[in-house]
Amino acid sequence: MSDITRTRDETALVARVQAADGEGRDIHDAATGAVIGQAPVHTVADLDDAIARAKAAQPAWEGLGHGKRAELLLAAADAIEANAEPLARLLSREQGKPLSGPNARFEVGACATWLRDAATTPLEPQVLVDDESGYAELSYRAVGVVGAIGPWNWPLMISIWQIAPALRMGDTVVAKPSEYTPLSVLALVDILNEVLPPDVLIAVSGGRDVGARLASHPDIDKVMFTGSTATGRRIIEGSAGNLARLTLELGGNDAGIVLPDADPAAIAEGLFWGAFINTGQTCAALKRLYVHDSLYDEVVAALADLARATPMGVGLDEGNVLGPLQNRQQFDIVKRLVDDAASRGARIVTGGTPATELGELFFPVTIVADVEDGVPLVDEEQFGPALPVIRYTDVEDAIASANRLEAGLGASVWSTDRAAAREVAARLQAGTVWINGHGGLHPKVPFGGVKGSGYGLEFGVEGLKSVAVPQVISG
Ligand code: NAD
Repeated sequence: MSDITRTRDETALVARVQAADGEGRDIHDAATGAVIGQAPVHTVADLDDAIARAKAAQPAWEGLGHGKRAELLLAAADAIEANAEPLARLLSREQGKPLSGPNARFEVGACATWLRDAATTPLEPQVLVDDESGYAELSYRAVGVVGAIGPWNWPLMISIWQIAPALRMGDTVVAKPSEYTPLSVLALVDILNEVLPPDVLIAVSGGRDVGARLASHPDIDKVMFTGSTATGRRIIEGSAGNLARLTLELGGNDAGIVLPDADPAAIAEGLFWGAFINTGQTCAALKRLYVHDSLYDEVVAALADLARATPMGVGLDEGNVLGPLQNRQQFDIVKRLVDDAASRGARIVTGGTPATELGELFFPVTIVADVEDGVPLVDEEQFGPALPVIRYTDVEDAIASANRLEAGLGASVWSTDRAAAREVAARLQAGTVWINGHGGLHPKVPFGGVKGSGYGLEFGVEGLKSVAVPQVISG
């Protein structure tokens, strides 16, 4: 066993990846403010060097073939599992999400699951024509060097979503984690590199300038980007020069519609976690909930009861399942939107003011009732633990409301009548519509947004194709 697979605490993981004394940027524990370590500050020159190395390593990596690459990726998934607890602890401290619940341990577990799936999903050449008129087959080849740019909310899982299919298809990868959560991603890459050949996967820890260069670099062939819609637009501009192919997983403002026949008691918990997984800092979380008038008070009360009963606090404390906002900027957005809604007459059913007794970045789960379309808490992506609940009487109005915004990532319909729910689902402008749930993902089911939430698909066969180039062989 190598050193890394014997590592047993998060400080040892940090020690392997952090900057030399005095040369890095302090990274703080989101819950306590304590310094966890120093992130290296890589420059554009460091990035250029990384891309050159990744480009040089690519042909040999592709040349290994699917079978050998799959074997190495399966070993890499085992290495993640061998380090699951220290990785989860580091993630919990840096990102803020608790160890327990659908949080840090869950995220690390998902990394191994998605990596294994990308390694083993078959993608065979497709024979398109084979008759007297001729022969043609379509296959998928490595695209080259993939730039992977990630956000801070699910930093490990989203990095794996970008890295795993690319490596599987024979691409090499240069990954740039968010400047808010670099240490956990650097540690993950360090663990993967225990089993991967040199320079097949390189992490560069830099800010926006490094991200911008990564998207526009002439030797980058594909950009996998997950982050805000505003940054996605800049990446499109940046890729005009290198013609890099893009997968853009951008912001969301997912609507949920509770139909009149739903059972509030049965759906309350699903609604709650659909909205508040990762303390609301999730791209495809339920961010505005439309509830039929006949059930409105009951649903609001059930959500408020759950909000009061669900423990929030420091993530390393096993009893907590909700944590802080990851950063001050996001905390300020949530506070501004909640204050603004209250000032416009919305009813704060529970929560509403910072939970300063827990720490600087804690905001309690906040249920906001008697609020309408047009209020910024409804129309903007809050990305935090505040849910506006909007009353409707005609389902046509709820569908129109759900579809009226630029975002189109996810949506959900809640009903005891599956056929009726599916009819409504088919009319919603979203990449995924869940019925009686929200946000559940599966490694074999493609995921991606429409409209302002971006384009391209991740996961499964479609995800493998998206980090490859199609080639037709004919004749
Ligand atoms: P962000 O756009 O601020 O940053 C994302 C990444 O882009 C970071 O690594 C950042 O350094 C980099 N970046 C910044 N400027 C850049 C530029 N000009 N060129 C290239 N890279 C640049 O997003 P964030 O605040 O980290 O993440 C939150 C957002 O991400 C939310 O809107 C959320 O909905 C979205 N998100 C979407 C998905 C999805 O799958 N659709 C998943 C998670 C998060």
